[in-house]
Amino acid sequence: MKIVLASNNKGKLSEFNRLLSPLNIEVHPQGEFNIPAAEEPYGTFLENCLAKARHAAKLTGLPAIADDSGICVNALGGAPGVHSARFAGEPGNDQRNNALLVEKLKGVADRSAHYTCVLVAVRSAEDPEPIIAEGRWYGEVIDSPRGDGGFGYDPYFLLPQVGKTAAELTADEKNAVSHRGIAMVKLMDEMKKRWAL
Ligand code: IMP
Repeated sequence: MKIVLASNNKGKLSEFNRLLSPLNIEVHPQGEFNIPAAEEPYGTFLENCLAKARHAAKLTGLPAIADDSGICVNALGGAPGVHSARFAGEPGNDQRNNALLVEKLKGVADRSAHYTCVLVAVRSAEDPEPIIAEGRWYGEVIDSPRGDGGFGYDPYFLLPQVGKTAAELTADEKNAVSHRGIAMVKLMDEMKKRWAL
């Protein structure tokens, strides 16, 4: 079985392939089919994720998986949320996004935050029962970066129980506990049950 992934991110692609290859499923990035990125105009991760999955399924005729993720900071009312990639404006830039986040949290005591990942799988663009899985990863935003792994906000995302930032974990350590890792395992379980894989 072939599934299209509504993303061209190599890390996500290889992680999905690692999880799905035992089920004889091949995951192909949407770029292989020359599919342009979908619009993501909505205010929730779920709506954007559904739009991306439907778009990829519609243009390929294949089942599709999409993901949407971001960091939600409690003291900022859940911002940057769906705007995480372009928090400091276009074009998205990790360094500027992190600088803005630290700036907005200057003098703020509550540093609690979490990463959220929503995953959606559809059998077709019109699938009336998309499979939806969510994962959350809790931590705190710190003022100075630590570590050079990961991407995005990872050097500023401290895991207080481990005393390390997300950027100080190996890729395998991160995948085992991250919002995306948690959501992926849930999605796989549901796909196995509901699509009889
Ligand atoms: P996307 O869902 O891949 O478009 O990610 C949205 C944005 O959220 C990214 O550009 C990052 O800024 C942020 N983000 C999502 N997941 C992570 C993560 O695991 N580490 C760091 N930043 C993340």
